[in-house]
Amino acid sequence: MASRIAIVTGANKGIGLGIVRRLAKELPDDFAILLTARDEDRGKAAAASVDSTRVHFVPLDVTSEASADALVRTLRADHGGRVDLLIHNAGVLFRTPPTPDAARTVLGVNYYGVRRLQAAVEPLLAPAARVIVLASRLGDVTSLRSASLKAAITPADVAPEALDGWVGSYQAALEAGTVDADGWPVTGGLPPYRVSKMGVIALVRSWATAAAAAGRDVEYHSCCPGWVATDMGGASATSSIDEGVDTPAWLALGGGRGRSGSFWASRKALDFVA
Ligand code: NDP
Repeated sequence: MASRIAIVTGANKGIGLGIVRRLAKELPDDFAILLTARDEDRGKAAAASVDSTRVHFVPLDVTSEASADALVRTLRADHGGRVDLLIHNAGVLFRTPPTPDAARTVLGVNYYGVRRLQAAVEPLLAPAARVIVLASRLGDVTSLRSASLKAAITPADVAPEALDGWVGSYQAALEAGTVDADGWPVTGGLPPYRVSKMGVIALVRSWATAAAAAGRDVEYHSCCPGWVATDMGGASATSSIDEGVDTPAWLALGGGRGRSGSFWASRKALDFVA
């Protein structure tokens, strides 16, 4: 059995699969890598496409509590009950005008999916573990047009439950037709995506603050991979998957050490959320 465990979510294609390929080459030999995906066939095919015996497929739909619990059972039964590296990569984006249903899906995967999985795996994090969240520069809080909405998520010690409420209030505003008046981002089809990424960037800072206060030796980082030519990024994107993998893989391999809670792009910490 491998002595250390890395997990990547939404890894059947795109940046997630690119991260698995990179980690398979660059993580120390005692790591096993769990490539997770919501679809078993796509996940198994992706794992088989990586030329490495230490990559294993495990099913995980980040929107399902039962699926997260099953992953934890698998970790306990087959992988020593520990996690040394967790990369929250799964994500969705719709370019169509935001409807309440579309927002529920985007927030459900990009924000609540991260929140749910982290809560399930947190007790298994080993000493010196690292947690990396694929966020986006679109999670810049400057697209909020309300000072109180900004103030609600910028304190480094904001509670995760308060962030849940903040994200939920966007969904409620969308349903009530008050997003514009309330100062949420409104342009184009991306607002729910922006809100989801603002939420996870703030979550990462909150987790880092709590871990530091408790003296726990775990680091949390969020990052933007750039505009990457995947199914999500589209063919006009300016970066290849290899380029998009650079910053998250660098963080996974120990980059940014000592700056837990930061948001990174091109290996540089940006403090637009401060
Ligand atoms: P892709 O659309 O290529 O891949 C997204 C992955 O997420 C797929 O494997 C998809 O699985 C998976 N996924 C979606 N919903 C779920 C779910 N409920 N449970 C588990 N997995 C799920 O996107 P990218 O590779 O481009 O994006 C990866 C991450 O990087 C995302 O978080 C994205 O927001 C972020 N990012 C991407 C940028 C870009 O330009 N591409 C820019 C900034 C950030 P399936 O195949 O089953 O749908």
